[in-house]
Amino acid sequence: KEEHVRKPDWLKIKLNTNENYIGLKKLMRENRLHTVCEEAKCPNIHECWAVRRTATFMILGSVCTRACRFCAVKTGLPTELDWQEPERVAESVRIMNLKHVVVTAVARDDLKDGGAAVFAETVRAIRRKNPFTTIEVLPSDMGGVYENLKILMDARPDILNHNIETVRRLTPRVRARATYERSLEFLRRAKELQPDIPTKSSIMVGLGETKEEIIEAMDDLRANHVDILTIGQYLQPTKKHLKVVKYYHPDEFQELKEIALSKGFSHCEAGPLVRSSYHADEQVSEAAKA
Ligand code: SF4
Ligand code: SF4
Repeated sequence: KEEHVRKPDWLKIKLNTNENYIGLKKLMRENRLHTVCEEAKCPNIHECWAVRRTATFMILGSVCTRACRFCAVKTGLPTELDWQEPERVAESVRIMNLKHVVVTAVARDDLKDGGAAVFAETVRAIRRKNPFTTIEVLPSDMGGVYENLKILMDARPDILNHNIETVRRLTPRVRARATYERSLEFLRRAKELQPDIPTKSSIMVGLGETKEEIIEAMDDLRANHVDILTIGQYLQPTKKHLKVVKYYHPDEFQELKEIALSKGFSHCEAGPLVRSSYHADEQVSEAAKA
């Protein structure tokens, strides 16, 4: 019999929907833009959009060619490739007055370049309109084609983020098509292409991994020169997705953070509500100091 794990109190957060937030949502609809903040119903949206002035845009459409078992993005065959999208993202970053922006994309395995050209153009368009905004990119593995990664790195983002998502053993169960080794290689190659650009990765916990396996993942990331790590609680987006096996206590996150820092990561965010893009603005300045 499958056990039901109860959601602890520290995860029960009310969404704050003030006027500013409603205005920004309207801006997204008018510009046909998607944010992870909204689509994933991220509990940090108020803090990020209004207080920290950061947001995560999802470009290249809202339909993904993959179907990872933790992810709420729709799966299918995307058709759109919109060359005006970079300008619209750049303009929204300006209107939102963002200090830090994360740009991610669905995996476009249907495109030869995995969407790299539009991705790179988005970085450039944001930079042109918002020279003081730091830009973090969060691509998929782009099919493991490193020419695609080069196109993106040539646009000189401030941080290259690519998530391994989970420990080695659970990867085949959790992620679709992506492999643990390929993601590590992707991160290593990004560093080789632009050694001064900090690299970052993220792990969700609560999928049945052991502490030893999390530590092994930290070692693997450090062996591939990853600078920044985020660790957050996996939350099941719908009943069809993987079940939560364990809710970690905030103290356990604190312990993981301390272990990560002792391994040499320049910055680590770990906590129940930590998402890949959470407090990313601080990480840029930390990484610059490192
Ligand atoms: Fe958006 Fe990331 Fe902030 Fe969540 S943590 S609101 S996804 S920027
Ligand atoms: Fe979601 Fe990314 Fe997996 Fe697509 S590749 S299903 S967007 S996690």
